Amino acid sequence: MKRSTDRILTTHVGSLCRPADVLEGILTKVSGQPRDEAAFNEKVRQGVIHNLKMQAEVGIDIPSDGEVGRPSFAGYVTERLAGLSTTTEPSASSAMNYPILNEEFPGFMAQYNAMYRKIWMPPAVPLSLVDSAIERTRAERVIVTDKITYQGQAEIKRDLEQQKVSKEVGCPKCHTANPVRTPYCAKCAEALTEPTAPCAMCGKYNRMGSRFCIYCGNRLR
Ligand SMILES: [Zn+2]
Ligand SMILES: [Zn+2]
Repeated sequence: MKRSTDRILTTHVGSLCRPADVLEGILTKVSGQPRDEAAFNEKVRQGVIHNLKMQAEVGIDIPSDGEVGRPSFAGYVTERLAGLSTTTEPSASSAMNYPILNEEFPGFMAQYNAMYRKIWMPPAVPLSLVDSAIERTRAERVIVTDKITYQGQAEIKRDLEQQKVSKEVGCPKCHTANPVRTPYCAKCAEALTEPTAPCAMCGKYNRMGSRFCIYCGNRLR
């Protein structure tokens, strides 16, 4: 674990926006259609790299993978834990299981329940695929059928490898490996990150991760 005695380190927990092609892969699997696993894993890997870079660039000390490849809380649990089974309950409602909210705010919850599964979807994802995934999972319920044990060793290994690989970024010009947060290549000074907002003193653009403006010396953050 990364620690510091000088300052409070920042981290991020939870999902970050998944790229549209990754969402499409997740929904394909959830709706029971065949998926090219190698192509999907590569898209997830690219998504994780993108998320790690963005977190590093805004100064997150301990970035996360942004849960790019995980379908949902429930899907993640059944993938990683043994002793659970998925059953179907055909009469199940597709509404979120918030009985008190449904009772107290029926108007709001009717609107929310009608859109909460689709509201996150970028327009690039076909609506028919979203509907088919919703219909297939609507009646699914996870129940405990055996002793709970951890079975996700292979998956956690893959997750950790993806994070390890992507903590370094290759310079596009000279191919030297630099840590992800580095604004300029240590060997050839090629820019490695996106531009920052313009410097408040001189108006010029630096690179994400820069602490001082390289043109006028103004402190950027
Ligand atoms: Zn370089
Ligand atoms: Zn400046």
